[in-house]
Amino acid sequence: MMQLFMPLNFLGFVYREMKGSMANIERMFGLLRRVPAINDAPDAPPLAVSRGEIEFREVSFGYGPERQILDRVSLRVRPRQKVAVVGASGAGKSTLVKLLFRFYEVGSGAVLIDGQDIREVSQASLRRAIGIVPQDTVLFNASIYDNIRYGRIDASEDEVREAIRLAHLDDFIARLPDGHHTLVGERGLKLSGGEKQRVAIARTILKRPPILVFDEATSSLDSRSERSILQAIREVSRGQTSLVIAHRLSTIVDADHILVMQDGHIVEQGSHQQLLEQDGSYAHMWWLQQRQRVQEQEA
Ligand code: ADP
Ligand code: MG
Repeated sequence: MMQLFMPLNFLGFVYREMKGSMANIERMFGLLRRVPAINDAPDAPPLAVSRGEIEFREVSFGYGPERQILDRVSLRVRPRQKVAVVGASGAGKSTLVKLLFRFYEVGSGAVLIDGQDIREVSQASLRRAIGIVPQDTVLFNASIYDNIRYGRIDASEDEVREAIRLAHLDDFIARLPDGHHTLVGERGLKLSGGEKQRVAIARTILKRPPILVFDEATSSLDSRSERSILQAIREVSRGQTSLVIAHRLSTIVDADHILVMQDGHIVEQGSHQQLLEQDGSYAHMWWLQQRQRVQEQEA
């Protein structure tokens, strides 16, 4: 009886959390308006991920007819590359992520993964292929272990432990009153921003998606937590295709390619070094942030 009850109970947990997860994702992107229903094309096949290449081809988009948010944005993340998008708040960076997940339909142009237009594949397969580490991670009212296992619910205990280690959560969990059985979330132990971020990273490690997206994953952290999270992120994303949205430029200097967005346009692009040499808005932001850092250190 107990044997039957346990999995059912866990399935109940998974079901409830899955139902909530769409709402969580919406909350995480700050979607206030109702997302229009997007349906799969009839008999849409699953996305076939071979290399994990992302392409935005001349994408234009607006949430409503009155205002264009993206204007013919083209970008390509080649397999196993790390591409960063930077720019002021409101430039349209998170909108790119929402279009990649197909929470909205592009106005014109296309988003492709490994050459397949994402409108032509099933949404479930699309979302399985992409792992996101958001700015604000939502924890469920469950043990920290189950919160991590949520990344892939059939993961074995060894796999969960390995994810905990890679996300640098093991010391933290060892200090909890009930170890990884400790309840977290609104009705349990509250975690700091950095700890929640590590939970999101551990989930993503378990999910092992071919494509990773980090949307300002470290912007709310102080620079010390940021350094250790960045190290964890580097371990997860090694050899993976990743799209990194960042506010602090110090976190993306090692990207293969950096795009600078302004008011829905890509205004500059290149490597960190090339962008500094161009001496445009990236270089300006870089020196501004460097000066702020020095001031913070002196304060
Ligand atoms: P970023 O991530 O670069 O800060 P966003 O992509 O979130 O920028 O937003 C780009 C613009 O789109 C902003 O002006 C924002 O107010 C607007 N926007 C974002 N989400 C919505 C929405 N759901 N409905 C209407 N406008 C939105
Ligand atoms: Mg954003």
